[in-house]
Amino acid sequence: MELSPTLQEEFDIVIRRNPGEAEFHQAVREVLESLDPVIKKRPEYVEYGIIPRICEPNRQIIFKVNWQDDKGRVHTNRGFRVQFNSALGPYKGGLRFHPSVYLGIIKFLGFEQIFKNALTGMPIGGGKGGADFDPKGKSDNEIMRFCQAFMTELSGHIGHDIDVPAGDIGVGGREIGYMFGQYKRMTGRYESGVLTGKGLTWGGSRARTEATGYGTVFFADEMLKLSGESFDGKKLVISGSGNVAIYALEKAQQLGASVVAMSDSGGYIVDENGIDLEQMQDLKEVRRGRISEYADVNSQARYVEGGQIWDVPCDVALPCATQNELNIGGARALINNGCTLVAEGANMPSTPDAIRAFQKAGVRFAPGKAANAGGVATSALEMQQNASRDSWSFEHTEERLQEIMVGIHERCAETAEEYGRPGDYVTGANVGGFLRVADAMMAMGVI
Ligand code: NDP
Repeated sequence: MELSPTLQEEFDIVIRRNPGEAEFHQAVREVLESLDPVIKKRPEYVEYGIIPRICEPNRQIIFKVNWQDDKGRVHTNRGFRVQFNSALGPYKGGLRFHPSVYLGIIKFLGFEQIFKNALTGMPIGGGKGGADFDPKGKSDNEIMRFCQAFMTELSGHIGHDIDVPAGDIGVGGREIGYMFGQYKRMTGRYESGVLTGKGLTWGGSRARTEATGYGTVFFADEMLKLSGESFDGKKLVISGSGNVAIYALEKAQQLGASVVAMSDSGGYIVDENGIDLEQMQDLKEVRRGRISEYADVNSQARYVEGGQIWDVPCDVALPCATQNELNIGGARALINNGCTLVAEGANMPSTPDAIRAFQKAGVRFAPGKAANAGGVATSALEMQQNASRDSWSFEHTEERLQEIMVGIHERCAETAEEYGRPGDYVTGANVGGFLRVADAMMAMGVI
């Protein structure tokens, strides 16, 4: 899609200023493509430089992380924290530990986070961080030493009113625990609200672990309801088998769907009887094994090494693994096999041409910034519980999460009608998030 001359000029500046950061360019372009009707209606946003100010992070921190493996060898990794926008509240967003991490990945994630967090309606700004550290195959002690070294560098830049990191790919409860412990040791303060995704006995929120996957399914359920449908009896494909994918599986099953395929970076499994949740949890959360092992112990299941999971016929697809995992080939396969709804549990998993193909074919499509916002929303609920030194029940927290997802769906649907066309959740999410941030920035003047 072509950009208007004003937006093209802004985009050219982003490209010039951030060379070689392809994922960041992709994320910015996707938002700018939705903004033409906004700047026509509200030209003051251009006059006040809101677009270049939103595209430039407030602060980008890059640091060295030295750590020792179990054999005593010293390794050096690179750590990042990009504090993107704090118009609505302290910076909030996860930490990713993965060898593919570089500044462009963290900036794309931080940029998306601004709009996602705004859509939740909660008082949180946008940020993201991580390291090019590969947790795969590392011992518990190595993970601990890396997390401690990482937090030693990060600790001076975060705080419950400043910047509140959480987990993402490669960072779950274990890593948050090691980082929280190191922050506590370094500062001498029990500052519960400095990190979210904590354990339940030390300041964590019930339903945080489940929140992103559950939230994605709640969002997709709202989309289905618009045409009088439900998850009951639907056939699903969910990519990934990490935190988001596993809890999307759980909620989809609770709502009566059958999940027939899941994946990891090695390949995918197909189980036409419906994937067994308990086995998957044991394999991935407890034993940290490979997904191929599921097919080793279930004769009705098959494992496909490599390949694309999107070849498996389904009614609903939930990409829950990583960025750009669903390309035009995957989109065509889903469309040809009769898939009618795609909701992104991961961040930017669909390439721009895949999204265009879905829209052209009339496949309902929800972008991650809306559909996966349940994780950060529940992190904000964790912050609320920490601030009031309270701990809510699972049922109450899940109810709040569902209300929030229904609210995000409503905001996206209404904004799509006003600024795009009915059912265009991409415009709805981009514009809905942008308006909230832009108005707060306008109110605070040029800072
Ligand atoms: P996890 O690390 O728990 O799981 C990631 C999963 O994706 C693993 O199964 C991993 O397989 C798989 N994967 C990674 N790369 C590929 C690839 N190239 N092809 C196929 N599978 C791949 O991460 P999360 O579940 O937390 O995050 C998944 C996505 O959701 C990310 O995009 C993240 O940014 C997003 N997200 C997460 C939130 C959260 O609360 N956790 C909140 C909002 C968004 P393997 O083990 O082989 O690497």
